Amino acid sequence: MLKKNYILSPGPTPVPERVLLAGAQPILHHRTPQFEKIFAEVSESIKYLFQTKNDVFIFASSGTGAMEATVANLLSKEDTAIVVVGGKFGERWEEICKAFGVNVVRIAVEWGDVVSPVQIEEAIKQHPEAKVVLTTISETSTGTVSDLEAIAEVVKDTDKILVTDAVSGLLATPLKMDEWNVNVVVAASQKGVMLPPGLAFVAIDEKAWRLVESSDLPKYYFDFKAYKKKAPKQTPYTTSVSMIFQLREAIEMIKEEGIENVWERHRILADAVRAAIKALGLELLSKSPGNIATAIKVPEGIDGLQLVKVLRDKHGAVIAGGQGKLVGKIIRIAHLGYMDKFDMITAISSLEMSLKELGYPIELGKGVRAAEEVFMREGV
Ligand SMILES: *Cc1c(COP(=O)(O)O)cnc(C)c1O
Repeated sequence: MLKKNYILSPGPTPVPERVLLAGAQPILHHRTPQFEKIFAEVSESIKYLFQTKNDVFIFASSGTGAMEATVANLLSKEDTAIVVVGGKFGERWEEICKAFGVNVVRIAVEWGDVVSPVQIEEAIKQHPEAKVVLTTISETSTGTVSDLEAIAEVVKDTDKILVTDAVSGLLATPLKMDEWNVNVVVAASQKGVMLPPGLAFVAIDEKAWRLVESSDLPKYYFDFKAYKKKAPKQTPYTTSVSMIFQLREAIEMIKEEGIENVWERHRILADAVRAAIKALGLELLSKSPGNIATAIKVPEGIDGLQLVKVLRDKHGAVIAGGQGKLVGKIIRIAHLGYMDKFDMITAISSLEMSLKELGYPIELGKGVRAAEEVFMREGV
């Protein structure tokens, strides 16, 4: 039977038609006044997504590029970074630091658990030499969201720079950079921002910029100073012109919906998925489940890799499996970016059918019904 492809993974995520079409415009040369006008406009309007007045640099790269850029631009040889490691992306911060010869003070958090602000406070006390605290607001590999506002509260009166990887968290969970005193926020295009993969963003405040001034780690393409010099009309190297058109359109859509409503939509979709999972008798991995992706433990007797395959190949539902030490042990249903209630119904329904096909005792429709009840209660 004809089968549609439903992207229900925590990145890349679906791209709205309006944004796709914006990318189909003829290319403008990136050094012309016509393009400069658009780039300057986007450099300003993108600040809304971060709830900041600070500079936001736009890179032609994936999110990891912006993470690497952040380490390379803030730190110097022999510097120390406090790193929260509670999943695949916390590990990535640690790996990048090691690649640049930065000393790592690791706050190890069990995968699925959440770091407490007290742990951060302790680490800062024990390591006064540390210059930065590297965190992940939404640890996509475990579906866990941390309390960044409370973390910022303990970091703000120290001389440390608080950095957060918000690649999956931006727009899917509240994040108010200026109000909370987060110094650096890293994000990318292919998750909550509703764009194809290919752009990454770094929002940076004045406190963090002081570290940029003194940083001596090697860098070239990602040198923040080069981006600052060209801002706001240009980038030092060719930007992804078509994606800038798309970014302009996506920001417009987000403004039309209103960022609070975007956060709230993610909350409702996540609530519905969690209700469905509970109704089906399945278990969440995370002790602090966020609104980005729901990580579900693969039930006893079911092959997790096979489950993801059946969902995708039989039903067209592309969800994510586990990463790192969670390969085969969890599945992840995203509620991220351009998604609505019926995307969640699709995910839950195909999960029910796939589990049944694999011989797991499940009552069809039970999860879908629980999700529908959440939507009815929320009046959406
Ligand atoms: C997706 C993601 C990234 C970056 O991945 P790229 O493939 O480099 O874009 C980084 N951190 C988190 C938390 C993510 O979810």
